[in-house]
Amino acid sequence: MNVLVINCGSSSLKFQLINSESEEVLAKGLCERIGIDGSLTYQPTGGEKVKSEKAMPTHTEAIQFVIDALTDANTGVVKDLKEIGAVGHRVVHGGEKFAKSVVITDEVLKAIEECNDLAPLHNPANLIGINACQKLMPGTPMVAVFDTAFHQTMPAKAYMYGLPYEYYDKYKVRRYGFHGTSHSFVSKRAAELIGKSYDAVKTVVCHLGNGASICAVENGKSVDTSMGLTPLEGLVMGTRSGDIDPAILEFIAKKEDLDIAGLMNMLNKKSGVFGLSNNLSSDFRDLETAAAEGNKIAEMTLDVFCYRVAKYVGSYVAAMNGVDVIAFTAGIGENAGPVREKVMEYLGYLGIEVDKEANDSHGKEVKISTPDSKVEVFVIPTNEELAIARETVALV
Ligand code: AMP
Repeated sequence: MNVLVINCGSSSLKFQLINSESEEVLAKGLCERIGIDGSLTYQPTGGEKVKSEKAMPTHTEAIQFVIDALTDANTGVVKDLKEIGAVGHRVVHGGEKFAKSVVITDEVLKAIEECNDLAPLHNPANLIGINACQKLMPGTPMVAVFDTAFHQTMPAKAYMYGLPYEYYDKYKVRRYGFHGTSHSFVSKRAAELIGKSYDAVKTVVCHLGNGASICAVENGKSVDTSMGLTPLEGLVMGTRSGDIDPAILEFIAKKEDLDIAGLMNMLNKKSGVFGLSNNLSSDFRDLETAAAEGNKIAEMTLDVFCYRVAKYVGSYVAAMNGVDVIAFTAGIGENAGPVREKVMEYLGYLGIEVDKEANDSHGKEVKISTPDSKVEVFVIPTNEELAIARETVALV
């Protein structure tokens, strides 16, 4: 079966058409500037990437262009819509309502809408994408795959904040965690790589991208993760602060005359390695180059990032009372050897020994610990689209 995987943002839409038997990507692309002017980038596998400007007042036109491209006589990869058996939609927040992926029904749509409060920038856009697809592909089964669902197995001791209980009771203020599709995909692969059953292995997954989170996976279940009610908690990220003393907010608000929107903008867009490096860059390639040229702030920024990652890994080893395997994934985790090496040096007390030659490789699945290392460490490229396609096929 061919599965169309859709990841819909407020003004953009990423898609992949995946053959579920061969797990091959048939075509992929991106619609951008929806509601502004609009462009479609489309690439059939083995073919040329083409970008065209197209008026896209709403997501419905965007999806129509995607369908047209996929079924085009020259550049298309299927003859008609009937060859697309199902659609898998990435949905950011499933709250406490969704602990698994689900086939989309009217009731499911209502329940997703009820989670909008928890992800006001993302969930409404995801719903718009689902509605547009349903309009253009009536009769094609659709599945919602949630970023939060994998973490619904966390125990209360991991998800409750030290805040008045009534906020949990009234508003469901608690930790949810994100990147669940990636943590689930990578932790399953890690178990395969060490030849153990998924339900009998302790894994720490470091998803280090522009957004970054760490997850403790014990016996196939997420037991803790570093993001919280929103993706702002935890690690120092590209532009997000991660954990800070909450009292800093009052202090800075008074000094800089910022309101709540100004504070949230600062925490989400102007902080992280970008803000910490004195606005040098949010991209680790730039930071590594600057540090190598002797830029002390860039060096300090990389140190802060790696130290925070190592502290989280250490705390999750404590949470699980041990660890069998550690996996690095996403843009930084898959490509930044020096970051991985620094993190692993902190974890020397676990008996981790780095295979430096293997750790120099980029973007491929590789074991980066030596045969003598007490804990096995891998780079495992994540593939959220394939994970969504697998979930979709399993449900339809
Ligand atoms: P992601 O959000 O997973 O797409 O990751 C994007 C981030 O990965 C970029 O902002 C970079 O910081 C980082 N990245 C990508 N390629 C490299 C590389 N070769 N070396 C270091 N960092 C990289």
